[in-house]
Amino acid sequence: MKERTSDGSVVCPKCRGQRVSTPDSRVTTFWGQECIRRRRVCSSCGFRWSTKELPAEFLDKLKESLDDMERVKKAIMVTLNDEDYLRKLEDARDIKEEFRSDNNKEPE
Ligand SMILES: [Zn+2]
Repeated sequence: MKERTSDGSVVCPKCRGQRVSTPDSRVTTFWGQECIRRRRVCSSCGFRWSTKELPAEFLDKLKESLDDMERVKKAIMVTLNDEDYLRKLEDARDIKEEFRSDNNKEPE
């Protein structure tokens, strides 16, 4: 969810409304990278989502490694039962979907 207006403020991914509040933000880690996770609530339609703020160079590296990861994932999943690792995979999928939606976004 990297939808932003030209001044950098977040817009609602559902209704494109700009009245978005941030009731909670906390420092967390994502793949060993410290980042800020913010909860967002749209004041117009009530949609709730969360965003992670990660350095651009970290995202570039992650993007490169995602395709490799997809290839080895099935083999790993057979033998690995690590909840933390599985959660990382879920997060990575979320990020990958965001890349996809960015890439497919129509020019405004
Ligand atoms: Zn909305």
